[in-house]
Amino acid sequence: MAFLGAPLAGSMRDLVSVIRFVMIFCLAWVGASPLSATVVATDAAITGDKSGTEFAITLSQGVTLEVFTLANPYRVIIDMPDVSFQLAKNAGRQGKGLIKAYRYGLFAARKARMVIDTVLPVGITNAELLAVDRGAVRLELSLKPIDAATFGAGTGASKSSARRTKRAPRIKAKRRASRPVVVIDPGHGGIDPGALSKSNVYEKDIVLAVAKLLRSELEKRAAYTVLMTRTDDVFVSLDKRLEFSEENDADLFISLHADSIGDSRFASQVRGATVYTLSAKASDETARRMAEKENNADAIAGLPRMDDKGDGDVRDILIDLVKRETANFSADFSNTLVGRLRKRVRLSNKPQRSAAFKVLKQTGTPSVLVELGYLSNSEDEKRLTSSKWRIDVTQSIAKAVDAYFDRRTALAR
Ligand code: ZN
Repeated sequence: MAFLGAPLAGSMRDLVSVIRFVMIFCLAWVGASPLSATVVATDAAITGDKSGTEFAITLSQGVTLEVFTLANPYRVIIDMPDVSFQLAKNAGRQGKGLIKAYRYGLFAARKARMVIDTVLPVGITNAELLAVDRGAVRLELSLKPIDAATFGAGTGASKSSARRTKRAPRIKAKRRASRPVVVIDPGHGGIDPGALSKSNVYEKDIVLAVAKLLRSELEKRAAYTVLMTRTDDVFVSLDKRLEFSEENDADLFISLHADSIGDSRFASQVRGATVYTLSAKASDETARRMAEKENNADAIAGLPRMDDKGDGDVRDILIDLVKRETANFSADFSNTLVGRLRKRVRLSNKPQRSAAFKVLKQTGTPSVLVELGYLSNSEDEKRLTSSKWRIDVTQSIAKAVDAYFDRRTALAR
């Protein structure tokens, strides 16, 4: 089976030196069916070159994995439970691209480890677990060269994330070859009306109508599974919206809202649509206030204010890699969306902002919150209630969704 050389034993000491990324995959079904049969690792493969190298391996069932890098020498480590490696006899001796060689075997009682030696300091730019046949999963890692300083700079941050691994979020394996799941999230509802216009137009009604129109626009394409967090005038807590997204393994989450400003002196000037993404620190004061207002929805509905289950700090739940990937995709979709909306819909003076919106705190699902316009502005109010404008806005969002998934599919090829 494995060959455990001296470098592997030495790596325990290095663990405390440089850990750049820690990534946890907890597959939901593992809890339901304890690892009775031994997990078998097969089909390790290396592709790419020195500008970017991919490493992949198949595991006969989902396991909890940790992936991180170490220095002196530069290595990528994959830790997993007891795994039986059934790889080709010479597997790992001959590297390719950024990978010099790799080795594998038991690292401690019921703990297996793969050590991938790299020729340069590398960053893990992507790590995914893809479901394959009969419950098996394929781990795919993408490595890119980085400079030694960048490699070392991750130390502090990743130590703290290593400590956090106990309550790391659960990340399900992505389904391969199925339609992307788009979750549309009409804000507010029921007891929580959201913003109000002077003539008593409710935010909750506008966003539900726009959401339904967007759903039918997306369903026309027969390319997506389109789900909504609510389809009626009913209150749904922010937690439930997040749960819904996670349970359905959403690939994209679009929350729809409409705003209103309290100060009537500015009501005639402040108007237009804005796309928000998640950030721990708000892009500006307006964004910060907006998040505060939207995060208050549960309190408005009379729910006790939860202490965010200990993950109130956005940074806590967004661990390293997963966070980075999700944030990048959210930003990518936000760019595309604003570009599309600009052609047909009036935007606010700063149409891309970010803040700590609770409903966007999604570990693995790229998500945006769209404020469609201002109910406090009479021109915006007219548009928000006009069917022509609603068609313009939903077609623009749908085109942005198409462009976004086209690009992701192209990247995945
Ligand atoms: Zn709202």
